[in-house]
Amino acid sequence: MDRRRFLTNTGLALGAVASGGGLAGLIDSRLAGAERQRGRIALTFDDGPGPGTFKTRQILDDNGIFGTWFFVGNVVSRSPDSVRGLVDLGHSVQNHSWSHQDLTTLADPTAEITMCNDAIRSATGVTPSCIRPPYGATNDHVDSVISSLGMTSVLWSLSWTRIATAANPTLQTVIEAEARRDRGLSSTILFHDATNDWEQMLYFLPSIVAAFKALDYDFFTYG
Ligand SMILES: [Zn+2]
Repeated sequence: MDRRRFLTNTGLALGAVASGGGLAGLIDSRLAGAERQRGRIALTFDDGPGPGTFKTRQILDDNGIFGTWFFVGNVVSRSPDSVRGLVDLGHSVQNHSWSHQDLTTLADPTAEITMCNDAIRSATGVTPSCIRPPYGATNDHVDSVISSLGMTSVLWSLSWTRIATAANPTLQTVIEAEARRDRGLSSTILFHDATNDWEQMLYFLPSIVAAFKALDYDFFTYG
């Protein structure tokens, strides 16, 4: 996508969200007849640690909220200090495999999982309890290995890039979808802070956080 068009579309959309109190009303109306509960949102960041990790952490820290990072084990082993820093500040660091392979293609994915756990434990002193399988790819065999290791697989309910697609050009559209799904009570957003469009992600992250804060969502972490 053309970068300027990308920024223009989404910038306008986010401006609309920031200027209106109507969005909370919209969700309230979707919840009409149901007991209004506080929504929960998890911000999850895949593929790091990498070039956007530090700034991502700063944005969350500035907002007084915590994130969950699904890190790649062989990258963790090369920069353990930055990973330990996240945990020391209260963020959650979890497993995204040792080398970002599609676990469904492996005869035995155990080593991909345990080697990443070892790298994170070595860097932070904390052993992950959650894994995000690379590409979200899983099957019965992978699921059974994950549970045999006492771990939980965590996927996501939406990717932040949906905000920027031509078909769904507004943050309001995304949040409306959240309001419909499970009455908007619990959501997990997928971000990438080390690959894909991580620079654009950093540009939009403060507005995304502000939008969910304005809706009084509670930010939670995994693990
Ligand atoms: Zn990934």
